Amino acid sequence: EAKANGRAQHQFFERRLMDSMLRRVECEKLLRAAIEKDQFVIYFQPRVDTDSGEVVSMEALVRLNHPELGLIQPSEFIAVAEATGLILKLGEIVIMKACQQMDEWRRAGVPVVPVSVNVSAAQFAQGVVRECVETNMARFEIPAELLELELTESCMMGDQDHVAHELAAIHDLGIKLLVDDFGTGYSSLSQLQRLNLDVLKIDRSFTEQLLCGQKSEVFFQAMVTMAESLRMRVVAEGVESMEQVQILKRLHCTEIQGYLVSTPVNAARMAEMLWKRILLPLPLRAVPKLM
Ligand code: C2E
Ligand code: MG
Ligand code: MG
Ligand code: MG
Repeated sequence: EAKANGRAQHQFFERRLMDSMLRRVECEKLLRAAIEKDQFVIYFQPRVDTDSGEVVSMEALVRLNHPELGLIQPSEFIAVAEATGLILKLGEIVIMKACQQMDEWRRAGVPVVPVSVNVSAAQFAQGVVRECVETNMARFEIPAELLELELTESCMMGDQDHVAHELAAIHDLGIKLLVDDFGTGYSSLSQLQRLNLDVLKIDRSFTEQLLCGQKSEVFFQAMVTMAESLRMRVVAEGVESMEQVQILKRLHCTEIQGYLVSTPVNAARMAEMLWKRILLPLPLRAVPKLM
């Protein structure tokens, strides 16, 4: 009985392993075909200043637009892209498409703001980011002020000197560096200080907890204070409610991103927001004092 049970369980795990391997292989095929057939599209999510209500930047978020499967989210394929090394090619594509889109907007007279592009640790480890960025800035005549790079804390691990060198070179071009999902990884204060980082994006999980009482506010406040002392700007990720905005303003977190303002949208809808420019309703902005 126990033995049969054991075998059944063994088979179950084997099947699960088989399933996940098949899925990985399928996903890898899908990715290779998507690269070949140019099926990646960039969605944009605005980042807003809470005082002025204005769009200060927009994040480029990749999707796979499959003719039969529809729009596939990055959570479905980024891990496989990383595991197979395809993230290097994908990363290039995203940087290229972000620059291409800005060029297109500029030609159409759309008032553009900087675009921030997510970069994975593998791209930094390979030391290919700077060249890719320079190539596309030249090709589409994009000034450095219009490009920002989002790196996760894992990008800052690895070979310290090597990474520091690459980041410094990119920063020297005038490109701003953002720390993505801050608080979920293992970066140290000294790393943050040593590398020249401009903006700290506090992970959505901390924003979520803000509505659950005093203690989470104290924690958030500590991150804001740390960023201030490192002369970094602070962004709260995943802002979904007005109550969160009120708390964040009290904590001196001056930039927000999240579904409250907008979900990630396609280029056409992002252009509408760029024309509109101010995306926060008046009650949430700083009301100018009379007298
Ligand atoms: P991320 O860089 O932290 O991007 C934010 C993610 O949170 C996005 O998911 C966005 O849709 C979602 N989000 C934004 N506001 C809210 C909110 O208010 N509530 C909730 N629940 N979610 C919110 P998305 O687009 O599915 O991207 C997921 C992750 O995939 C990104 O996390 C990023 O790590 C990765 N990713 C996306 N595009 C790229 C890329 O071009 N290159 C690389 N290396 N990674 C990418
Ligand atoms: Mg990001
Ligand atoms: Mg993030
Ligand atoms: Mg996040």
